[in-house]
Amino acid sequence: MSPADTDLTPMYRQWAQAKRDFPDVLLLFRMGDFYELFYEDAEIASRVLGLTLTAREKHRDGGIPMAGVPWHAVETYVARLIRLGYRVALADQTEDARFAKGLVERDIVEVITPGTATSDSLLAAGENNYLAALAPGRGTEWGLAVADVSTGEFYAGEVSGKRLAEELSRLSPREILWPRSVDPAHLPARGEGVLATVLEDASFFHESARRLLLDHFHTASLVGFGVDDLPDAVRAAGALLQYLRTLKRSDLPHLSRLRRLRSDEVMYLDDATLVTLDVFPRREGSVENSLLGVLDRTETSPGSRCLRRALRRPLLSSAAIRERQDAVAEFAGERALSDAAGGALSGIQDIERLTSRASTGRASPRDLAALRDSLARVPALREALASVASARLVALASEISEHAALRDHLARALVESPPATLGDGGLICDGFDPGLDEMRRGSRDGKSWIAGLEARERARSGIPSMKVGFNRVFGYYLEVTRAHLRLVPPDYERKQTLVNAERYVTPELKEVESKVLGAEERSVAREKEIFGELCRSVVAEAAPLLATAGALAEIDMIRALAVAAARGGYVRPEVDETTEIEIEEGRHPVVERTLASGEFVPNETRLGAPGRRIAVVTGPNMAGKSTYLRQVGLIALMAQIGSFVPAARARIGVVDRIFTRVGAADDIARGQSTFLVEMNEASNILHNATERSLLLLDEIGRGTSTYDGLSIAWAITEYLHDTPGLCPRTLFATHYHELTELANRHEHVHNLNVLVREWNDEVIFLRRVADGSADRSYGIQVARLAGLPASVLDRARVILEELEAGEFVEREARPEASAQLGLFAMAEGERLLEELRGVEPDRMTPLEALAKLAEWRRRYGGG
Ligand code: ADP
Repeated sequence: MSPADTDLTPMYRQWAQAKRDFPDVLLLFRMGDFYELFYEDAEIASRVLGLTLTAREKHRDGGIPMAGVPWHAVETYVARLIRLGYRVALADQTEDARFAKGLVERDIVEVITPGTATSDSLLAAGENNYLAALAPGRGTEWGLAVADVSTGEFYAGEVSGKRLAEELSRLSPREILWPRSVDPAHLPARGEGVLATVLEDASFFHESARRLLLDHFHTASLVGFGVDDLPDAVRAAGALLQYLRTLKRSDLPHLSRLRRLRSDEVMYLDDATLVTLDVFPRREGSVENSLLGVLDRTETSPGSRCLRRALRRPLLSSAAIRERQDAVAEFAGERALSDAAGGALSGIQDIERLTSRASTGRASPRDLAALRDSLARVPALREALASVASARLVALASEISEHAALRDHLARALVESPPATLGDGGLICDGFDPGLDEMRRGSRDGKSWIAGLEARERARSGIPSMKVGFNRVFGYYLEVTRAHLRLVPPDYERKQTLVNAERYVTPELKEVESKVLGAEERSVAREKEIFGELCRSVVAEAAPLLATAGALAEIDMIRALAVAAARGGYVRPEVDETTEIEIEEGRHPVVERTLASGEFVPNETRLGAPGRRIAVVTGPNMAGKSTYLRQVGLIALMAQIGSFVPAARARIGVVDRIFTRVGAADDIARGQSTFLVEMNEASNILHNATERSLLLLDEIGRGTSTYDGLSIAWAITEYLHDTPGLCPRTLFATHYHELTELANRHEHVHNLNVLVREWNDEVIFLRRVADGSADRSYGIQVARLAGLPASVLDRARVILEELEAGEFVEREARPEASAQLGLFAMAEGERLLEELRGVEPDRMTPLEALAKLAEWRRRYGGG
């Protein structure tokens, strides 16, 4: 039974009050060394965390269900609950239990939800953790606000209903807020694991939202943030800020500026395209196998987050792209500059998150030490950047401040490597605070007196084995073994009896001890105070710190792009306003890294000029069609984040959007009708593509029967070609050889094929993309290489052609058709034809085709 049992009822009242304030949270209530949960909360926690469910007040009916976690492990349990989609509140003792009169005061110190996490155990270093708020507007516009409370980023804007889903998928928030009166059916689909939080409509009232924001930023208007004219953005931002302040129990000074969310200036990449192009690592895959993995040579987590954001928001203005390229080029061209900047950046920790933790009252002594050490590197970085010339780097360098006063202050106050927690003190330097020094002196003097006690008492009593010891319950003592008990001086007071020894204190020792312990307690308390002051001095500088951190992150990203360019042998692409793409010796940035050096075969791309707007790409399975399509998409994407590209030369007419549609085979895991998925995506492309888009279509129409799929693919191509003002740059990889016919009929369609060659009984994949269409009967060629009889091969070829031409059914009955079967008896021929009808040669690998042929030969070949 714990001592608090006696005052359960008032304690329960505290609990119930906290629970009333935040009804939808699991309340973790601090009691001694545990955080306890009660009632339904306890049941949920015991179920999902596997905690033992016990009961308090057993004399009541069944008692109150209760479950607890040890305080020192609470962060781990909270992290698990948040990942499972729960909201969690921590109620802590807000006064020292020893000084409390009656019940210790407790209050909720923080509410944690997936979108409002600040602790490292809940955050991925290289990723933002966004919370979004949606305010429905009067028309079709929505107010949208997003913030990452762990970094201080805060944006608001208005987006059309049509683009809302796009914007949300780009930001991928962990939690979305909206007013109660909105029917969730009118909201865009939320991604998996995104928490929905419904707020009262009043949180979204314009006037109160505006006042809250003005108050928060200490400004007279919102004009400076560019959102004054966007009432719905203001409503969303106000609701979001209100929510965060309530949950974090803090004014959040680090949310120091609001930026306007502009989606019209950046390219939208839908999730499917990001997956198809492997821009980010797949859930199970390694980082290396993604564009991010190739480009992320950043030194810091904020730099890595900045790169991720850039990859989700490629630029659309060629001027903005060139500005970033200039900066990348400067690092790429000046090794010394890059090395110096990289060296300085490498020791800089996550200033955004460190500042944010200080602002939300969650910083640890180590956090402040990390901030101190990071700031110490800033002068070196500024010095490295002193003579940069490119406009963007000049601007970024000017945004970096050294924060010298804060840095000095932290350096003077904090010891070199402070402990992780405040509990035992030892984080503040000697000489920083005279009061603290005094307390420490008291404790030190006492301790050295005690240290000398052993020798003094041994001499006085003549007990050579006498020891001075300390334990948490009894404090300091003198220990004497049984053998020497008779020598114990009369002024010793017995304190504790052990099996072989007795422990004693002397009046003098007691006095010194209480001085030591008192001084220690006071000095720890004083250190806490000083630490609180240090945190406040960080908070006071939150806005300029975050400005510095933002500039550092972007510099880190730009430099990373330069390092990746040098490592990968990339070139700076020309970027212009044409609708053309010209790439010489282009490579796939990810695939080339998986191959031995020199093994990747570079290819040319000329797309977009009249006559060459739509390319039908043919070639056998495994020839390299998909790789080629993705390579073109990735090069365009890289160009538009200002990166250099894997090619000998490239010219990219700015792409407004990249659409991808990949073969149905890849979608089976989704468990939907794959064909329906495919057609939904195709329909999305046809409705949203423009003349400036880049379409990468890989095997459209594969999810249905051959003729169906073929007709749809054909019709889609014609639609793209013929719709006035459309005809986007399109690469269309297909196994429907018939589609090569489109080039003969339509002005802007041309054929490409990935070459293969037969050589010494082998099919050699040349990986080279050439103009013109491919020979289509590879399965049969492979069969010939394997030595199948010529008559079988010839017949297979005729049947294949007829099948593909759709003439088979009529001709099947003609005598000459079956006469060609020669050796076959009629009935067997019928059976073979039946089987042939069921086969889709272009969906088979050469090996499967070979196996099939071998099987037919065995069954029908007569020998
Ligand atoms: P397809 O789409 O035609 O079936 P893929 O694009 O999937 O073929 O390519 C098959 C394999 O060929 C890839 O996994 C890759 O390893 C290799 N490959 C593709 N393109 C090249 C290239 N240009 N150089 C070297 N290897 C390549």
